Amino acid sequence: MWLGILGAVLFSFKPVVILQGPPGSGKGTCAQYLKEKHDYNHLSAGDLIRSEIEKKTEFGLQIADIVKRGDYVDQAIMYRLIRERVEMFVKEDKPFIIDGAVRSLDDLIFLRELLNNLNLTSQAFLLKLDANDESCSRRILHRLICSQCAKVYNTETAQPMNELKCDNCSTLLQIRLNDTAEIIKKRLGFYRDQIAAVNLSIAQFIPMISYETNRPVEECEEFYENLANKLVHLENNDLLWASLEWNEYTRSTPKMPKKTEFKASNFQ
Ligand SMILES: [Zn+2]
Repeated sequence: MWLGILGAVLFSFKPVVILQGPPGSGKGTCAQYLKEKHDYNHLSAGDLIRSEIEKKTEFGLQIADIVKRGDYVDQAIMYRLIRERVEMFVKEDKPFIIDGAVRSLDDLIFLRELLNNLNLTSQAFLLKLDANDESCSRRILHRLICSQCAKVYNTETAQPMNELKCDNCSTLLQIRLNDTAEIIKKRLGFYRDQIAAVNLSIAQFIPMISYETNRPVEECEEFYENLANKLVHLENNDLLWASLEWNEYTRSTPKMPKKTEFKASNFQ
C-alpha cells in the first residue's frame, strides 16, 4: 500500500496549462480560479512585464515606454523572464499556467523547446478561451486589478467587497495604464490576425481544449472546476487525449490534432 501511495505522489500528473485567448476573454479569471481553488502556479506575461516596470530599473523604464504605445516587449527579454519563472515552478512540483505568452511562431518554437527541455510536453495542453470583441472590450474597460496579488475585479460583474480595495490583501485597486479603448482595439485586432493562427500550430504538438467565455462568470468557474478535477485523475498526456469529453467543452468538436514531430520549417 505504501508503495502505491509513494507512486501516486511521485508520479502524479502535474498539468501545464498553456492559456491563450484575446485580451478580455477571461484568462485572468480562469488563472485566478485555478490558483485559488486548485493551487496552480501562474505565469502571466503581462505580470512579468509589470513587475519589471515596478522595479523602475532602466530596463523597466524601457519596457514601460513600449507598453504605453500598446506594443509588445522584446522577445529575448520575455523568454529569459519566462524560462526563469517556469524553472522555479518545476522545482515547486505544482501544476502551472502559462498565460498569454505565445504570440508568434518564434514564441511557439521557444515554448516547444522549453517544454521539451524540462520534460513537460506530455503534461501540457492548450486551453483556448474566446469571446466576441464587444464583450472582451467591455470586460477590459471595467476591469480593476490588484498590483499585489494580481486578483482581477470588474466594476460591473465582480466588484470587490470593500470599495476599491482587494479582498485578499487590501491593496488599493488600479486600472491598467494600457487599458484604453483605442489600445484594446489594436490588441484585439492583433490577436485575431496573428495569435489565432499560432494557437492552431500549438495544437499540433499538444492537445487543445477551447471554451467560449461569453457567459456568466459562475458558469465559467464551474467549467474550470470540472476541468481541474478531471486533470487530477490523469496520468499522462495520452490519457488526456482519451478521457476528456470534448463535446462537453466545445461548441463544435475540434479535430484531434496529430502529434507530429516539430520542425521549424513547418511554420515558414
Ligand atoms: Zn490583492
